[in-house]
Amino acid sequence: MDCIFCKIVSNEIPSIKVYEDDRVFAFMDINPLNDGHLLIVPKAHAATIHEITEADFLAVMSVTHKLAAAVKKALNPEGINLMQLNGRAANQVVPHLHVHIVPRWSGDGLPICNWEPAASDMEKIKDVAGQIQEALE
Ligand code: AMP
Ligand code: ZN
Repeated sequence: MDCIFCKIVSNEIPSIKVYEDDRVFAFMDINPLNDGHLLIVPKAHAATIHEITEADFLAVMSVTHKLAAAVKKALNPEGINLMQLNGRAANQVVPHLHVHIVPRWSGDGLPICNWEPAASDMEKIKDVAGQIQEALE
């Protein structure tokens, strides 16, 4: 399979690795949004949240928790954004699941999660909530 993150995991192409265990690999983003921008990926290929096993996803999130603490200790950011995009409509570019850790400093101007909340229709919100609850397995 021609997957760039699988090739990073298998060392076929180089990366700046910061962590590895039997399930998870973490490395520096090559186009960092800020200092300390990290990517955490499962070693087993899975394109999105819909393909990854629960065990691998939990392992990725556990390493994300560990690395967020290390980023805090090393760089002392004022905040951290976690991002995990699924599908082209969600702006996912590399189709191998990854969590971004993006350290934040006030005034850094990054266009992440800075939308203006707008009021919606409460009946519609309830209707959608019902659809999701019905779909829960
Ligand atoms: P996205 O799929 O939109 O969540 O983001 C993909 C991320 O992968 C971007 O932030 C890229 O800078 C990063 N990226 C792409 N290729 C590499 C690479 N070879 N090494 C490290 N990061 C990469
Ligand atoms: Zn892959």
